[in-house]
Amino acid sequence: MRANKDPERMFKVVLAGDAAVGKSSLIMRLCKGKFFENLSSTLGVDFQTKLIELDGRTIALQLWDTAGQERFRSIAKSYFRRADGVLLLYDCTYERSFINVREWMESIEDGSIKKLPIMLCANKTDMRTEAEQVGRKVVTYDDGQRLAREYGALFIETSAKDGTNISESVAELARLMRANE
Ligand code: GDP
Repeated sequence: MRANKDPERMFKVVLAGDAAVGKSSLIMRLCKGKFFENLSSTLGVDFQTKLIELDGRTIALQLWDTAGQERFRSIAKSYFRRADGVLLLYDCTYERSFINVREWMESIEDGSIKKLPIMLCANKTDMRTEAEQVGRKVVTYDDGQRLAREYGALFIETSAKDGTNISESVAELARLMRANE
């Protein structure tokens, strides 16, 4: 059966997480199918739209990039107010970005009116083995999953570089956003 190409529904998804965890790269991988090694943070327009098929239906996702505004919590909060869901990223090779996930979770809760579906993404998994080999403290799958569970969020490991689980992360979130309506 062919899916109807006119989107039946549009969801606003906000990308959150510390600077340099890969938010813009994830959007580019999803919408352009490419990874740009030196993505300029000023390059980003406000949002990109991606059409996805979910159970034979077309859904439009508006992906809002908060890149460059990570330090301005009040601005980030205003994004969450208008969101249907959040992709919250950390860099699994940089522990600080994982520790800061709690603050992001609080900002999302403060900023939104209803309980928002959240997908927590452990990004840069392509780099984890190498980071471990050079003695960097990395964030494990279990650490990530435990934290996600604590906040009632979904969890997935991704790589914007090699494409691992990028489309899966938004598909799972879309499923939850639709169920949440
Ligand atoms: P943002 O500030 O959160 O939007 O992060 P960017 O998308 O600008 O990415 C920051 C840096 O990390 C850039 O140099 C990217 O090329 C790199 N990067 C992003 N995602 C990945 C990934 O999955 N794997 C690797 N190896 N590098 C990544």
